[in-house]
Amino acid sequence: MYNLGDIVLMKKPHACGENNWEIIRIGADFKIKCLKCGHIVMMSRADFEKKVKSIKTKAVDVKESTENYVKFEK
Ligand SMILES: [Zn+2]
Repeated sequence: MYNLGDIVLMKKPHACGENNWEIIRIGADFKIKCLKCGHIVMMSRADFEKKVKSIKTKAVDVKESTENYVKFEK
């Protein structure tokens, strides 16, 4: 299951050397953005699932950890 804002690792790194991509669009087509150079790639969902290696950071996890951090600060 993928969500907008998830950071994913692809099987092949981008030409710029970076291998962290942010999911910026989900639908019949997926759009991912290279976190280093900002290059955007669009591909079909089937293609994306073939090329993705793993989810590095779930957008949901980021939100939860931020909330925990805020609570801790208080
Ligand atoms: Zn790149």
